Amino acid sequence: MTADRTFVIAGAGLAGAKAAETLREEGFDGRLVLIGTEEERPCERPPLSKEYLRGEVGREKVHVHDEGFYAEREIELRLGRTAVSLDRSMSELVLANGERLRYDRLLLATGAEPRRLAIPGGELDGVHYLRSVRDSDALRERLARGGALVVVGAGWIGCEVAASARQLGLDVTVVEPSSLPLERVLGAELGAVYRDIHLDHGVRMLLGTGVEAFEGAGAVERVRTSDGRTVDCDLVVVGVGVRPRTELAEQAGLAVGDGILVDEHLRTSAPDIFAAGDVAAAQHPFYGERVRVEHWANALHQGPVAARCMLGRTEPYDRLPYFFSDQYEVGMEYSGLARSWDRVVFRGDPASREFVAFWLAGDRVLAGMNVGVWDVADPIQRLIRERVPVDDRRLTDPEIPLEQLDASRVRKR
Ligand SMILES: Cc1cc2nc3c(=O)[nH]c(=O)nc-3n(C[C@H](O)[C@H](O)[C@H](O)COP(=O)(O)OP(=O)(O)OC[C@H]3O[C@@H](n4cnc5c(N)ncnc54)[C@H](O)[C@@H]3O)c2cc1C
Repeated sequence: MTADRTFVIAGAGLAGAKAAETLREEGFDGRLVLIGTEEERPCERPPLSKEYLRGEVGREKVHVHDEGFYAEREIELRLGRTAVSLDRSMSELVLANGERLRYDRLLLATGAEPRRLAIPGGELDGVHYLRSVRDSDALRERLARGGALVVVGAGWIGCEVAASARQLGLDVTVVEPSSLPLERVLGAELGAVYRDIHLDHGVRMLLGTGVEAFEGAGAVERVRTSDGRTVDCDLVVVGVGVRPRTELAEQAGLAVGDGILVDEHLRTSAPDIFAAGDVAAAQHPFYGERVRVEHWANALHQGPVAARCMLGRTEPYDRLPYFFSDQYEVGMEYSGLARSWDRVVFRGDPASREFVAFWLAGDRVLAGMNVGVWDVADPIQRLIRERVPVDDRRLTDPEIPLEQLDASRVRKR
């Protein structure tokens, strides 16, 4: 039935690769083209700031699929190719080499790219950004030489790179305009926990100050901060957030806001075009608003849902946001979405680095983060999804299993 149809996926990252895999699994037997700018076949990015960056695992650990996977399934994987425009009147995607690909369905899975710092010295050698395997290779090679690293930005990427560099024995300074690392996402309480974790591992934290300039003769030698300090260094990593790659959608007149706007079936404002992963701001049935997140799990699960919707199913994407981070020996998982909250409470002592934090509004849990405590993401997600009314005393009592908070509500009915 589908043999004469062509589905094209722009963006060979995790979301694109999982969509291609799912299309074949679901029986799509038409032409399937997966286009990616990078020369590398689709990869998982989390190891690029962690074990791959530290040289603990090789390239085989970063690919989404084995080398033969795409050819075996007749997925035309076109690497080193960039889609530059979208001709909706002809249903064609135009590549940089002039090739035009006609599509019956198109998935935009173009992800996100690091925001660049437009400051003096920004182009000096030794100023690194981190997104691709290539970026990680370049940084890995540079970290292996040791020396002093300045990390600009204490978000997830900055914090993970700082941790990896300390584990490799470099001297590390983090410069961050907020008063705490990760403060924008986690707030003051958890920001303080992460600050202390890094201080304990010997990172120097310059908080509440930005970066004015990178200086050096050809290569970066020092960083000048906005509060007038200079920090000598051998290299810099900038981790100041990413921006969704929405150009194709914008140029084609699709609805775009903070990301490509899609409905709960990941369909854009054009019925034959879908979007998934970091680039998609998807209407979320649970939140009743559009949500765009930059999380591995979101790309992993949205790709398959987009694929099924491209085949005409009406499956909504309604998973709660979930992400993880590893820094030194401290691993964590975060579930939910807390944009504003009225308090944060702890189950367990944050100083022990084995605890669960909850972000609450009234008697409802908005988000939960387990640090060094495992197998609790499911009950945390149930509390959020089922909007279970909780009281702080029970929530923070480690003797009461999280599952029982849930069960107590069921008994009351
Ligand atoms: C170093 C690093 C560490 C991370 N660690 C974690 C973690 O610990 N936990 C977590 O939850 N998340 C983590 N993330 C985030 C996670 O990796 C992303 O959310 C995920 O990669 C998003 O996948 P995606 O397929 O939407 O986009 P991407 O991975 O960005 O893939 C998009 C692909 O599309 C290609 N592309 C873009 N434009 C075009 C075009 N016009 N034509 C053709 N191809 C194009 C790009 O080159 C890219 O290969 C990390 C990210 C990075 C960079």
